[in-house]
Amino acid sequence: MHSHVGRIDETDDGVAAPVACDRCVEDECESSCHVYTEAARLKYHKKDARFGCSRCTKRDKPCSLTTNAKAAAEAAPPALSYEELVAEVAALRSQLEQTTAAWGAAEDRVMVLESERRAAGW
Ligand SMILES: [Zn+2]
Ligand SMILES: [Zn+2]
Repeated sequence: MHSHVGRIDETDDGVAAPVACDRCVEDECESSCHVYTEAARLKYHKKDARFGCSRCTKRDKPCSLTTNAKAAAEAAPPALSYEELVAEVAALRSQLEQTTAAWGAAEDRVMVLESERRAAGW
């Protein structure tokens, strides 16, 4: 049974952090700043946002990777730009046009069927 640190350092569940955390940079240990892979993080931490590097976890210190990731996750999603909004409106409008066209076609079909039924003497 591995601890988090053991898993990060000794198994495939750990990878070198793409960017070393502040503490590892400060300690000039960038190359040993290891974190869980995305898959392992989800597996072991689930919704828990705590996934600092193994050095910080070992020292039981807050890791800047955790705080940064937490802050990023908590930050509101970026507002849509004008261009994105225009594209969104255009997409909705074309959906509406397709729906309206399908509706018109269905109504036409109903009319045809009704006149057929009348012609058949229903
Ligand atoms: Zn680190
Ligand atoms: Zn750290």
